[in-house]
Amino acid sequence: MDYQFYDTYSNTKKSFTPLDASNVRMYVCGPTVYDYAHVGNARPVIVFDIVYRMLNLKYGAEHVTYVRNITDVDDKIIEASNSLNEDISTLTERTINYFHDDASYVGALQPNVEPKATDHIPEMINIIEKLIKKNHAYEADGNVLFAVNTFDKYGNLSGKSLEDLIAGSRVEVANYKKNPADFTLWKPSKANEPGWDSPWGKGRPGWHIECSAMSEKYLGQTFDIHGGGQDLTFPHHENEIAQSESCNDKKFANFWMHNGFLSIEGEKMSKSLGNFITINELKDTYQGEVIRFNMMLTHYRQPLNWTEKSLLDSKKTLDKWYKIIGTYDKPLASKSDLISQKMLSALADDVNTPQAIAELHQLYKVANDGDVDALEIFYNSCQFLGILISDYNSWSSWQSKTMDIDENLINGLIEKRNEARSAKDFPEADRIRDELLNLGVILEDKDNKTTWKLK
Ligand SMILES: [Zn+2]
Repeated sequence: MDYQFYDTYSNTKKSFTPLDASNVRMYVCGPTVYDYAHVGNARPVIVFDIVYRMLNLKYGAEHVTYVRNITDVDDKIIEASNSLNEDISTLTERTINYFHDDASYVGALQPNVEPKATDHIPEMINIIEKLIKKNHAYEADGNVLFAVNTFDKYGNLSGKSLEDLIAGSRVEVANYKKNPADFTLWKPSKANEPGWDSPWGKGRPGWHIECSAMSEKYLGQTFDIHGGGQDLTFPHHENEIAQSESCNDKKFANFWMHNGFLSIEGEKMSKSLGNFITINELKDTYQGEVIRFNMMLTHYRQPLNWTEKSLLDSKKTLDKWYKIIGTYDKPLASKSDLISQKMLSALADDVNTPQAIAELHQLYKVANDGDVDALEIFYNSCQFLGILISDYNSWSSWQSKTMDIDENLINGLIEKRNEARSAKDFPEADRIRDELLNLGVILEDKDNKTTWKLK
């Protein structure tokens, strides 16, 4: 089956042909480890896990290399270490463990290689030295900067001209830069900051050079797919391309795949808005498969609106689907040749997970009418997507706050409260708010609209 992926670089959906079918190579930018991952961070983890499963299926798992890095040196890490008064390596190791727990909770397979930036400093220094030699980079005040005007294709990925970037002041201005858009490859470290010896003194790498170095080491100078969140397009990915292509005079990645943004109940997620949701805090309320399934309901390039309602709906669907598997009187075997071709066709069309799930709903209907062949295909197709991987008993005996949630009751109470508020009966409105709070439901009023979430 031909796979078509949307390539952000060329802005077209293209047929996917690997450079070498015996070693299909994908790189995805991983986490910067200083705090718990939030639901937005889980999106690329799940999206590229599905791409990885698709590649494994078509080319054989032994012929696919998936690399997802860990950024364990960064200004944010230094800040967090100072404010927590915790040693940097203790902080990063602890956060890496959190990340691994979160990734397995949402059912993501482990990548083949998970390189850490701090283990690859010599490789980064090596690329920087080459860039200086080729006049693509220069040293200034202990910093090494990439000279963006030496790379003609700068801005091609994000579709921005150098002038736009400078005018939009999305670049950090510093007096040692020849051009305000020049970006850091290496910077000096203060005495109390992590640093490595280099030809430019004790310092540490910029963020972008990490990915150029680690992708080249494990995947070669040109590889098949580079993935990440849409927010990384500029400057991170633009800069990765500039560094790697200037250094090697070769195309860096054949496909650029980016997942869209994620909002919470229609609003941008931010700590200041108080709607920041970590993966970790969802663990008490939902099984990881609910998170995964909910994420798949939106096509990966579309903006995703994360709502409590949609999570509850996802949970209900999975309850129903588990039931048909659990109440079947013979054990179902996992066989990859029994995956629905219709579902695979949907995925082959630029990872169309909502369409894939629509196909599963159809299969469920047929299976529910007693068609055992359909049931087997349904089961195996779900397993391929990383759902229905638990057994029915442990799924149905799983206890959470959601077990007690009755949406009709909540909506009814919200309506009553709105009536009380309209009638200016504020004590009654407050009483209803407290009643809901006792049920574990928090209300939020904004722009004449009331939304709710679980405590
Ligand atoms: Zn990266």
